Amino acid sequence: MTGVKSIKGMNDLLPGQTVAWQKIEGVFRELFELYSYREIRTPIVESTSLFSRSIGESSDIVSKEMYTFEDRNGDSLTLRPEGTASIARAGLQHGLFHNQQQRLWYQGPMFRYERPQKGRFRQFHQVGIEAYGWSSADIEAEVIALSHALWEKLGISQPKLEINSLGSEQGRTAYLKALKHYLEPHKNDLDKDSQKRLDRNVLRILDSKSPQTREILDDAPNIFDFLGESELAQFDELQKLLNALAIPYSVNSRMVRGLDYYNNLVFEWVHSDLGAQSTVCAGGRYDRLTEQLGGKFVAAFGFAIGIERLLDIIESSGQLAQLPTPAIYFISDGAACRQQALVAASQLREADFSVQMHCGEGSLKNQIKRADKSGAQLAIILGEQEQNAGKVSIKPLRDKNGIQSVVDIARLVQCVSERLT
Ligand code: ATP
Ligand code: MG
Repeated sequence: MTGVKSIKGMNDLLPGQTVAWQKIEGVFRELFELYSYREIRTPIVESTSLFSRSIGESSDIVSKEMYTFEDRNGDSLTLRPEGTASIARAGLQHGLFHNQQQRLWYQGPMFRYERPQKGRFRQFHQVGIEAYGWSSADIEAEVIALSHALWEKLGISQPKLEINSLGSEQGRTAYLKALKHYLEPHKNDLDKDSQKRLDRNVLRILDSKSPQTREILDDAPNIFDFLGESELAQFDELQKLLNALAIPYSVNSRMVRGLDYYNNLVFEWVHSDLGAQSTVCAGGRYDRLTEQLGGKFVAAFGFAIGIERLLDIIESSGQLAQLPTPAIYFISDGAACRQQALVAASQLREADFSVQMHCGEGSLKNQIKRADKSGAQLAIILGEQEQNAGKVSIKPLRDKNGIQSVVDIARLVQCVSERLT
């Protein structure tokens, strides 16, 4: 095709694909309702400073992945790369955290300038939940249990849960110092990215995929040696709750998250069907976020799921969503019958039957062919002959032994009901 195409890494969702999306969206909604989470919707475009203040200047997202532009007024705006910063902003702006706790969920497109590949796009979609106002382990267990319940509801093979603690300010600062101190003498043996991160974002080195860097990391200091007593106690408490809820997990003390606002508990659900982009859901605690945005302290915990990756898992488990088919294909033979056909089709829809109308020209033979292709159960045929007699034909399309009948047009809805229910 010549002419305009979609932007690299930004996908159209065609009708054959949106069915699967709608199906999982339905599952989310039901589940969020069961857990008492309420939907929040925020704009897709925000002030750039919202993300630089929250996600962190040195993070990959802010330093190289944002779609940032100036509007006509010269203000710097950014297409949101994730949902949490916007929700914290909205919560502060509208006083949602004022002497209140909030269980919120959101969904929608996110934008990151990354190298497009399997499971990684420039416009992708996340669904997430955020619990504001609780510092305790029970909310952490609830949020993780909700994600676990989602896999069950979707009927997919369970991803694996990994948890870690990044500590609070104090422990983490000491840990980062120790990590840097340990890595510095190995600087020349680290991969290029990690060398850069040594000064800017040392924690992210733990994320490196380079085998040589990973070997060096084998003897690096462990975060758990730097956590305070109460942090360790809460991490223990969470594990007890996960055990009680029969949710299997493993502790991965190397797991870090790409966004700077996390503290203490972080977790990921990783699925083996996803290849290199194996994390389908990621989350953690971000108690400092509201303060970073100029508000007061509000404890917060949540996660985001990559919907495209979730769909990959669903597809690899062999669940294919089918496009819906209409119950009825309505054929009108000849221009004189159109008006009455449109009216009759409306009456069928009022009685909750889905009707695909043959609009425009077409011979009877051609219309019957289309009716068959539509997947409808019945074809209704209104020709001039039938019309003159106040009748209409009902032709079964799927049932080989079904017989075609001619009925009074006034009894059409009733006759269809008898056939289809
Ligand atoms: P990754 O390590 O895969 O880059 P991340 O740490 O950047 O992920 P988050 O920002 O925590 O991920 O986003 C949560 C989830 O959103 C991810 O686990 C993933 O499922 C999904 N996700 C993130 N970036 C993309 C992308 N570019 N394309 C598709 N899905 C994505
Ligand atoms: Mg990323």
